[in-house]
Amino acid sequence: MAILITGGAGYIGTHAMVEFLNEGREVVCVDNFCNSNPVALERVKKITGKDFKHYNVDLLDKDALEKVFSKNEIDSCIHFAGLKAVGESCEMPLKYYHNNLTGTFNLCELLSKYRAKKIVFSSSATVYGKPKSVPITEDFPLSTTNPYGETKLMIERVLKDLYESDNEWSVSILRYFNPIGAHESGLIGEDPKGIPNNLLPYVAQVATGKHPYLRIFGNDYDTHDGTGVRDYIHVVDLAKAHLCAIKRAETRKGIEYFNIGTGKGYSVLDIVAAYEKATGATINYKIMERRLGDVGECYADPTKAYELLGWRAEKDIEDMCRDSFRWQSKNPDGYGE
Ligand code: NAD
Ligand code: UDP
Repeated sequence: MAILITGGAGYIGTHAMVEFLNEGREVVCVDNFCNSNPVALERVKKITGKDFKHYNVDLLDKDALEKVFSKNEIDSCIHFAGLKAVGESCEMPLKYYHNNLTGTFNLCELLSKYRAKKIVFSSSATVYGKPKSVPITEDFPLSTTNPYGETKLMIERVLKDLYESDNEWSVSILRYFNPIGAHESGLIGEDPKGIPNNLLPYVAQVATGKHPYLRIFGNDYDTHDGTGVRDYIHVVDLAKAHLCAIKRAETRKGIEYFNIGTGKGYSVLDIVAAYEKATGATINYKIMERRLGDVGECYADPTKAYELLGWRAEKDIEDMCRDSFRWQSKNPDGYGE
């Protein structure tokens, strides 16, 4: 029996594939490489020494996706595939709604048809909008501030309706906080196209001399040093949470929501200091205006994931910075063209 991994060539998908393969699981990857590179899958094979099937298929092409189901014994699915750039989602909302929603509809219809009614879905802390307080628990009110976040919330609702219509489903909604870092081999990591929007890839590029300085978006938030606070989680820890979620899904039906974070908040200046300490690099920075739509403080209460999944983050901020730097230094142009 195989686990279908959609978006398996992406940043989080590659790290999850490594964990599943190392556990001896059979995986089948589907990705259209709209935001990734086939080289990443070769690197997964190199790290694990294991081969697996992968298909260059768009989830929007239901006929092609069905062929993957008919050729493989798929039993469950980890659903990473989706577009994720917040700014772009505001410029091209229809593209985001179409890709993320229609792709999920096609996938769920086939999971249902082929009696593989177990899905782990990549949601995001963005569904908490501007949280009223921190740490955030799973029962906090939900709202979003952009089309990307809206697609996550809508898919959560679709999956809930699906479960309510058919209790044979097992649905795990994982709400990721801020994944950073890379596999310790330095062979796989985050490969943003163009200039990175997220903090860590930008810091990594400053550390390796691609940019002269980091722009820090605001130092007047109500946080310990005025800069924005987030819950950064090592991508390998995040990948392991999917293994725990699928193991639970294999033994019970239902729908559950989990915060996947460390429970610790670090400010932008904390990250700059941690990066310098872990790597010896210098991170020059300039304080700029706040970035539109940013929240001041966002970090998880991950207790539920520990209690029900038996999962908790093991790697610390130093591991995250060191592994990010190793990946960036060894692959200054990511996976290349
Ligand atoms: P990523 O862009 O690196 O990976 C997503 C993969 O999905 C890419 O390889 C892309 O080519 C593929 N894909 C997109 N649309 C597709 C389609 N229609 N058909 C087939 N493949 C398609 O992103 P990531 O950082 O690995 O994120 C994985 C998931 O986790 C996404 O759903 C994302 O929204 C979610 N998430 C990410 C973060 C983060 O900070 N990275 C935070 C919260 C949630
Ligand atoms: N940030 C920053 N400079 C950058 C990118 C991000 O100061 O070039 C800040 C941002 O304002 C936020 C934190 O870093 O406080 C994390 O931003 P990121 O985009 O990585 O995550 P998100 O805001 O989506 O949680």
